[in-house]
Amino acid sequence: MSHDASNEKLSTRAVTAGRPPRAGDSELNAPISLNSTFTAGGPIGYGRYGNDTWSATESAISALEGGRSLIFSSGMAAITAAFSTLPWGARVVASNEGYSGVMTLLNQYSQSGRLKVSLVDISNTDEVLAQLPGTDLLWLESPTNPCLDVAELPQLISAAKAAGILVMVDNTFATALTQRPLEMGADVVMNSITKFLSGHSDVLMGSLSTNSAELFTSLESARKFNGSIAGPFEAWLALRGIRTFALRFTQSCKSAQVLAQRLSEHPKVSRVRYPGLVTDSQHERAKKFMATFGAVLSFEVIGSGADADRVCDSSEIITHATSLGGVESLWERRRRWPIESPSVPETLIRLSVGCEDVEDLWEDIQRALSTI
Ligand SMILES: *Cc1c(COP(=O)(O)O)cnc(C)c1O
Repeated sequence: MSHDASNEKLSTRAVTAGRPPRAGDSELNAPISLNSTFTAGGPIGYGRYGNDTWSATESAISALEGGRSLIFSSGMAAITAAFSTLPWGARVVASNEGYSGVMTLLNQYSQSGRLKVSLVDISNTDEVLAQLPGTDLLWLESPTNPCLDVAELPQLISAAKAAGILVMVDNTFATALTQRPLEMGADVVMNSITKFLSGHSDVLMGSLSTNSAELFTSLESARKFNGSIAGPFEAWLALRGIRTFALRFTQSCKSAQVLAQRLSEHPKVSRVRYPGLVTDSQHERAKKFMATFGAVLSFEVIGSGADADRVCDSSEIITHATSLGGVESLWERRRRWPIESPSVPETLIRLSVGCEDVEDLWEDIQRALSTI
């Protein structure tokens, strides 16, 4: 019986995808292809067009998300390439609160006239549906960074597709282990590989995956000619991280659920946002189509922004730093960044739960909260 990789669990695919073909003494791991150019006559030709390390990492992303994948020098490079496929003046509907880099980019596009941008409450399905007529692209980030709002992905994707609207999903927080937007009908799924997929806070990278040959060609062309390419070593590091992605993510999600529950009962905390909490406003929706609730949660402390900063500075295991998705837990007060949306509360702390023991993390959090 021949082996059908499409039946494998995602955790298996993360380990098996992107290996060189087996033969006597063939390499187990993809090579780090350090070449700016290639001998004439082959399909690649030049180092900005492709190499074997990218291909291996891209196979692994495709094994998780479906479709065909392209890696980029960062998540933002991938997002910029995705927006670059839109005609001048195209209309985009996106969340009014989301990853600050995307909010900044959309604001710049809107001001220059490059794109018409309509920002909506992405968790309000009726509001999103009402904005769809005349839209060229629906950009869905779900759950959102940093407020963990959940968009009704299956319904919004099918409504947009029925209206002939392009749909792209930022799957960074959820990952393929939680939801697979291409299977729901989305045209493009984006990942900041920087986060959970690479998982060790040592590389920046992004990806786009699509089932459309036409979109693949234009996204690949955007990468070739914008030059937003990943370094071969970084691609190798990302692939190395992907090998343990399922293990790490599963552990982190489990701990996040425990910490969210305990934080919601802590006297110094006024609100916890985590779709896995039964009391969370997003829970009923999330449990319909999300297989996990992710490993990022946000909570508001009772007090001032300075109090929240003190909490972040007072941990000994958790590092006070931006970013997320690594084996090491990180937290920060999001409003310390001037580009963060003013609707994000001043005292909101985003916690990325890593792979440390959950009881050690809880002790660290309690110690930090005791300083206010
Ligand atoms: C980090 C992040 C990005 C941007 O990715 P980079 O790799 O930092 O460029 C995009 N979307 C979300 C949800 C993110 O968390």
